[in-house]
Amino acid sequence: MNIEVRHLTKTFGSYEAVSNVSFSINRGKLIGLLGPSGGGKSTLLRMLAGLETPDSGDIFINGQRVNDVAPQNRGIGFVFQNYALFKHMTVFDNIAFGLTIGRSDKAQIKSRVNELLDLTGLRGFEKRYPHQLSGGQRQRVAFARALAPRPELLLLDEPFAAIDAKVRKELRTWLKQLISTIGITSIFVTHDQDEAVEVADEMLIVQQGRLEQQGSPIDIYTNPQTAFVAGFIGHSTLVEQPALLRGFNLVQVPEGSRAIVRPEFVEVGYEREIAFPSAAETGNVRHVFFRGAHLELEVQVGGNRLLAHRSLDQEPLQPGDEVSVLIHRLYVVSEHSAVMVENPLKIDPLPVHI
Ligand code: ADP
Ligand code: MG
Repeated sequence: MNIEVRHLTKTFGSYEAVSNVSFSINRGKLIGLLGPSGGGKSTLLRMLAGLETPDSGDIFINGQRVNDVAPQNRGIGFVFQNYALFKHMTVFDNIAFGLTIGRSDKAQIKSRVNELLDLTGLRGFEKRYPHQLSGGQRQRVAFARALAPRPELLLLDEPFAAIDAKVRKELRTWLKQLISTIGITSIFVTHDQDEAVEVADEMLIVQQGRLEQQGSPIDIYTNPQTAFVAGFIGHSTLVEQPALLRGFNLVQVPEGSRAIVRPEFVEVGYEREIAFPSAAETGNVRHVFFRGAHLELEVQVGGNRLLAHRSLDQEPLQPGDEVSVLIHRLYVVSEHSAVMVENPLKIDPLPVHI
């Protein structure tokens, strides 16, 4: 085990920014720390780095409790949201910064910086100043600088937040490869689920200071354990009274619980296209959005507006069309649980009476 956090709590005034968070991370893993803005991600990361003092709880790195270890002695590299490069220093000097503090000799520093210039594809840029670089290049300098002293753990706080979408996508692929080449344990903070899913071996989902779930992207996607995770991951619609939906009235839905329906759970079409028409609701198409590879439909079913996908190969549907809507499954959620329920009528369709 490489990193372990036990019962970490941090309050600002009366506000609990991080609330009793515990987790452990194995060596060499790239962890996506994902959650909405204000959820406590940066505070958690800053406590690991020693830039913020926890009110209570312990942090272990390789079995050593580091709560009282100074930031520069924790073996942690940190890449911030904004580049935070030294403006008056060249690329070379920026990368060398952590090494000069460590008092390595000149030849050693040069050789290590050259290694990092090669690793990050910045060879040839060493004499430039930050303002002579693109956003993506500056962030690569920031990685190189963080990696220079050979940290045990790399912390990245929304490193691509200030970079435009196309370059950001390239950079995260690059980063994932770089991190797996070096094999360094890393925590990558983002509020963008696509970014987290694409980059992470494992994800930590935080909200309002609490750790909601830890698991692989697939695990979290298919087995959300809390209402928050079920609603946050994927494109979801909240249904207030799931027992009013056909099929699900046969399910024991606890009083007051709600449901989360994802577009991929919903089949929309003409009655003859639907596999289990007796299990389907009647709905009305409200909007049709072209999403490149498929269409996204918004359909009104009773009091609910659901999202569904439809293939471009199928007969087109228009707003106003009456359609059959088969809800294959949904998550029944209460505050601290999410349970997937299959539509019972779909599994065992009732005989159709003529
Ligand atoms: P995230 O990185 O997930 O967006 P943060 O960890 O930055 O969230 O913040 C969590 C909460 O703590 C927010 O409500 C934020 O306003 C508050 N907070 C963070 N740092 C401080 C601080 N130094 N003083 C007071 N409140 C803070
Ligand atoms: Mg933050």
